[in-house]
Amino acid sequence: MAKNGSQSIIVPSESVEGLFDALSALPRLTRCRKCGTELLHVDATFFSNGGKVWTLPLPFCSNCARKEHVARNVHD
Ligand SMILES: [Zn+2]
Repeated sequence: MAKNGSQSIIVPSESVEGLFDALSALPRLTRCRKCGTELLHVDATFFSNGGKVWTLPLPFCSNCARKEHVARNVHD
């Protein structure tokens, strides 16, 4: 009798490290894809279980962020 319902997916830490290595190698976005405004970058630091550290710039569009803020205010 086959056992069902006890599946677990184990993600090896190497794949996470590979993902962050790939992200680190990507060129920075300089312009917002939505509105073309020059993006700000906020550095975010990530740690893996294996003890590796990555600091990646997270792009942030001040224009789109402001629009979302205004939309929320109007909605209220
Ligand atoms: Zn934008």
